[in-house]
Amino acid sequence: MESLDHTSAQELMAWPTYREDIPSWEEGPFPTQHKHLKLPRRTTLPELRTVPVTKLPGVGPRIAAALKDLGISSFADLVLHYPSRHEDLSNVKKISDLRVGERATVVGKVVSAKKLGRPVRGRTPGLSVQIYDGTGYMLVTIWGRGWLLNQLIPDAWVMVSGKMERRYGLQLMARNLEVIDEPSTIGRTAHAGRFVPVYPINKGLNARRMRTLVHRALHASGYILDPLPAEILASHGLPNLHDAIHEIHFPSDKEHLKTAMKRLVFHELFLMQAGLAARKARFEESEAGRKHEGNGKLLNTFLKGLGFELTTSQERVIREVLEGMRLEKAMRRLLQGDVGSGKTVVAIAALLTAVESSGQGAIMAPTEVLAEQHFISISAALKDLPVNVALLTGSQSVAERRAVLEDIRSGEAHVAIGTHALIQKGVEFNDLSLVVVDEQHRFGVGQRTLFKEKGTTPDTLVMTATPIPRTLSLTLYGDLEVSILDELPPGRKPVETRMVQSPERREAYEVVRAEIEARRQAYVVCPLVEESEALEEVRAAEELYEELTEEVFPDKRLGLLHGRMGAAEKREVMRAFRAREIEILVATAVIEVGVDVPNASAMVIEGAERFGLSQLHQLRGRVCRGLHTPKCILVGDPKTEEAWRRLEALCNHQDGFKLSEVDLALRGEGTLFGSRQSGVPDLKMAKLLRDIEVLVEARGTAFELVASDPNLKQPRHRPLRREIRELLGVDVDWLFRE
Ligand code: ADP
Ligand code: MG
Repeated sequence: MESLDHTSAQELMAWPTYREDIPSWEEGPFPTQHKHLKLPRRTTLPELRTVPVTKLPGVGPRIAAALKDLGISSFADLVLHYPSRHEDLSNVKKISDLRVGERATVVGKVVSAKKLGRPVRGRTPGLSVQIYDGTGYMLVTIWGRGWLLNQLIPDAWVMVSGKMERRYGLQLMARNLEVIDEPSTIGRTAHAGRFVPVYPINKGLNARRMRTLVHRALHASGYILDPLPAEILASHGLPNLHDAIHEIHFPSDKEHLKTAMKRLVFHELFLMQAGLAARKARFEESEAGRKHEGNGKLLNTFLKGLGFELTTSQERVIREVLEGMRLEKAMRRLLQGDVGSGKTVVAIAALLTAVESSGQGAIMAPTEVLAEQHFISISAALKDLPVNVALLTGSQSVAERRAVLEDIRSGEAHVAIGTHALIQKGVEFNDLSLVVVDEQHRFGVGQRTLFKEKGTTPDTLVMTATPIPRTLSLTLYGDLEVSILDELPPGRKPVETRMVQSPERREAYEVVRAEIEARRQAYVVCPLVEESEALEEVRAAEELYEELTEEVFPDKRLGLLHGRMGAAEKREVMRAFRAREIEILVATAVIEVGVDVPNASAMVIEGAERFGLSQLHQLRGRVCRGLHTPKCILVGDPKTEEAWRRLEALCNHQDGFKLSEVDLALRGEGTLFGSRQSGVPDLKMAKLLRDIEVLVEARGTAFELVASDPNLKQPRHRPLRREIRELLGVDVDWLFRE
C-alpha cells in the first residue's frame, strides 16, 4: 500500500506544529494517488487556507472558477465544504440475495453493455449493463452515464448501487456505477460501498466531481492538527478535528457521522465564544475608561425641552447608559430597539453626558442622508444649549471640511456627527470620550474599531434596529452589555400593511392620493436592484419617477431621491420633503435607515418580493412616526412560497422581534447576521437556534479557558489564538500585539 511519506524533514520544520503530543501518523482510510502533490504530513486549517485549490490535481481554470462561485478557493475551504446529506450506499449484497425493492450495492464483472436508445425525457442516454458476481446474473440500468460505455468491456469489475425493481423482468435501477480495479477496493472509493456524501454544487460541477475533489483534498492534506486542547475534547467526549472532518465527509457509519457533526458544531461555537471571551477579558482587564461624571445640567435642559415624555423604556435605558458611562471601566454597550422606538434620544443623552464631563461625543451614521438628518434634528434639539455640533461627511467642500476638522481638533465642536468620513485619517479629536454608532449592522467590525481609536478608550454605544431573537442576543454579543428599548412611544398606530399584485398597482396609488389630499405625505420605494447594477438602479428610479409624475400624479409635487445623487442634491430633496414642498418622495432603499419625517403617512413599496423581511420592516418604519394611521402597500408578485410568506408575515406582524423569528424560520440564520458584521464568524455547521444547548456548553468551556489564560499566551493555546484571529479578523487584532 502506498503511503503519504514524501515529506522531507525540512518541509516539516517549515510548517508550524501545534503541540508536542502529535498523534502518530496513521494511514488514512484511502490510499492517495497523488504523489506529485507535496504537502506536509501534518497541517493546520490556517495553513490549509494558504494552499490554493489549483494545487489539487484535476483543478484547472474552469473547475477553479466553478469552485470559486461556491466560495471555495483554498484546501481549507474544500475540506470544510460540508456535504448537505449522505446517501447510504453501504449495503453490499450478492446478486442471489437481492430482493425486489431493496437498495443495495453490488460488485461484479461486466458481461455485456450497451447504450439505451435515445435520450428519454431530456436525460442523457443511459446504459444497460449485464453483470455477474459468481452467485447470479443481473441487469443494471443507469441513466446519464453513456460516456462510460467504452470502459465497460467484458470482465471489467464494476460496483453499482441502486434499487432492485421489477420492470420487464428484474433489474437494478442504479444511481451510481463505477468501474473499479478489483473487488477489494470496496470501502476505499469515494462514490459507493459506503455512506456517500452529497454536496451543494453549482453549474460548473457535478456531484461526482465534487466528491472526488473533496476526497483528494482530504488525503492530500495530511493530518489536520486540532487547535482545541485535548482535555476539553476528552471532557466533552468529542473526537479530534482530523477524524471529525474525515467522518463528516466519508463517515464509517451513522454513529460516527453524528459524533463528527457534534464535534464540528462545538468547534465553531467554541471558537466564536472563546473570541468573545478573550475580547471581554481584554476590556475588563485593561481599559480603564473615562469616568463620565456629568452634572446633568445639559441633559436636564434637553429633556425638558423635548416636547414629549420619555417612554419607560427610554428612561430605563438612559439610566443604564449613564451608569455605564459613570464607571471607570470603558463602557461597551449595545442598544437594541425596534424601528421608531426612539433610540436617537438615548444617543443624545449619552452625547450630552460626555460634553458635561468636558469630553467630546461623536455619532457615526451609515448614510449621508441619515447623518444630515441627525445633524438637523440634534442641532435643533440643542439650539438653546451651549453645545456646538459639527457635521462631517465625505462630500463637503475642502474649505468646509478644513473648518470642521479644525473645530473637532480644537474641541470647539463638542459633538461631531458624520458618516464614515469620521474615521478617515486626518480626523483628530481634542478629547473624544464617547462614540455612538447608529444602525450598527451597516458597519463592519473594523470600522467600529477605527472609530474607537479616535479617542483614548472612549465609551461606546452601538445602536441597532436589526432585531435579534431575544434568546440569542446575550450569547451573541457576549462581550457587550445589552440595553433593550422594548416599547414604542405612545400613540403610535400599527402600520396598516397590505399587499397587492402588480396588475392592481393603481389601488396602491389611490391610497397615496387620499393621504396627500388629507395634507399628508408619502414615499414610493423603487424595486431593489443588485448592488453591482448601480446605474440600472438610477434608471429604474428615474423611470418610475417619470411615470408617476406624468401619468399617475400630474397634479402633485413629486421628488426623487437615489443613492447616486450628489450630497447637495440629496440634502435639498430631503429639505424640500421635510418642508412639504414635495408631497410624494420617490426613493430607492436609501431611505431605509432612520429617515424621520413625521408627516409622511403612506408608503408604497414596489417590487416588494425582492426585499428581505427586515429591510421591509425598516422601510415601513419610515411611516410610523406621526399620529395618523400609517399605511404601507407592498406591490409584488412573489414567485416562491417563501416570498409569499415573508410578505404575509409583514402584513400580520408589527413587532420586529417577532418578524426576525419568522425570518429565521423561513430563511435560516446565515442571512440574519450578514457577513462578519457583529464579529460573529460565518457558521457552516452550527445553527444557533437548533444548537443552543451546545452553544451554552461551548460558551461555558470557552469562558473558563479564557479565565485561566486571558490572552491565550500559553504555548498550548497558541493554535487556538491563531484560529480565533482568522475567524474574527481585525476586531481581535490586539490579541496579536505583544
Ligand atoms: P429609531 O429608534 O428608529 O432611531 P428615532 O429615534 O428616530 O427612532 O425616533 C422616532 C421618532 O419618535 C422621532 O420623531 C422622535 O422624535 C420620536 N420620539 C422619540 N421618543 C419619543 C417619545 N418618548 N414620545 C414621543 N415621540 C418620541
Ligand atoms: Mg434611528
